[in-house]
Amino acid sequence: MDSNTVIGRFAPSPTGRMHAGNVFTALASWLSVRARGGRWILRIEDLDPQRSRRQWAQLIEDDLQWLGLDFDEGGLEDRGDHGPYSQSHRHDIYLSALERLHDTGLVYPCRCTRADIMATQAPHRSDGRVVYAGTCRPAHLPQPWHAQTSPAAERIYVPDKDIHFTDGLYGPQQVNLAHECGDFILRRADGAWAYQLAVVVDDDAMGVNEVMRGNDLLLSVGQQNYLRDLLGMKPVNYTHLPLLCNTAGQRLAKRDSAMSMETLRQRFTARELLGHLSRLMGINPDGAPCSAHELIELYDLKRIPAMEKITATFAE
Ligand code: GLU
Repeated sequence: MDSNTVIGRFAPSPTGRMHAGNVFTALASWLSVRARGGRWILRIEDLDPQRSRRQWAQLIEDDLQWLGLDFDEGGLEDRGDHGPYSQSHRHDIYLSALERLHDTGLVYPCRCTRADIMATQAPHRSDGRVVYAGTCRPAHLPQPWHAQTSPAAERIYVPDKDIHFTDGLYGPQQVNLAHECGDFILRRADGAWAYQLAVVVDDDAMGVNEVMRGNDLLLSVGQQNYLRDLLGMKPVNYTHLPLLCNTAGQRLAKRDSAMSMETLRQRFTARELLGHLSRLMGINPDGAPCSAHELIELYDLKRIPAMEKITATFAE
C-alpha cells in the first residue's frame, strides 16, 4: 500500500449500545479518511472480559452499517490482513511487545493493592485520577526484568519531563507523565492487558497513521507516544474531538437512553441523524438530512469547533 494512504480506525469498547457521542467520533474519523481516499478499520476493544459482550460488538457493526459508515478492515469477522481485530484475541502480540519493553530495563513488578495506591497517591489531584506514587519502583533503573514467581502487575517507569505533541484540533499540547499518572501499568496482576499498551501495539501493527477519538483520551497521547518511542514505532497523527453532552452539560454515557442508538434509530432516519451530527460538527450549517457519502465533500476539520464539549440539543 502507498505509504501516503491515510489509515484511520474506530476502536469502540463493546460494553453497551453506542450513543450519539460515539457516533459523532466514528463519523468524523470515517469522513476524514474517506475525504482523502484512505482506509478505515473497525477494531473491537474488548480487553475487559467482565464488561465486553459480543452482542454489543454486533450492534456496533449494525449501527455503523445503518449509518452508512463502511469499514475496509476489521470487525467481528476479522476481514483483512492485520487480524485478529478483537483485542481479546491478540494476547501473543501484546506479550511480544511487553518482552521488548522488558529489554529497556524500565519495567518492574508491582504488588500494590488498590487500597495501597489510593493511600499513597499524590494528594493534590482533584479530578479523581490516580497518580502512582512509585511504591514498588526499584531504587535503581534501568534494571533487568526477572521472571516473577507470584502474580504481579507490571509497571513502566516514566520520566519527570514534558512530552510535546500537536493535536489536529486542539493544537500544541504538553504532558508530564510523572505528574499526570506516574509509572503506569502495562499488564495487571491477573494477566489483563492495559489499554495503553494494547492500543499502541494495535495501531502500529494495523498500520494506523491517524487516530481520531474523544478528547477524554487527549492526555493518553503522552503514555502512548512514550511507549511508541520505546518500541521504535512510527508516530501517529492524533486529532481529538469534543465530547457531546446533554443540555444539563453532562457528557453522554452509554446508560443515557435518550442518546442511545436504540432510541435514536426509533426517532430519526439515518439521514436525519447524520444531518444533526454534521451540524454539530460545523460542516452542515442547517443540519439538512444527508447520507454519510454526501457529507464527504463537506467535511473540513477546520470547521469542527475546538471546544471541550458540544451540547447535543437534537435528541431532547
Ligand atoms: N476503546 C476506547 C473507547 O471506547 C477508545 C480507544 C481509542 O480510540 O484509542 O473509549
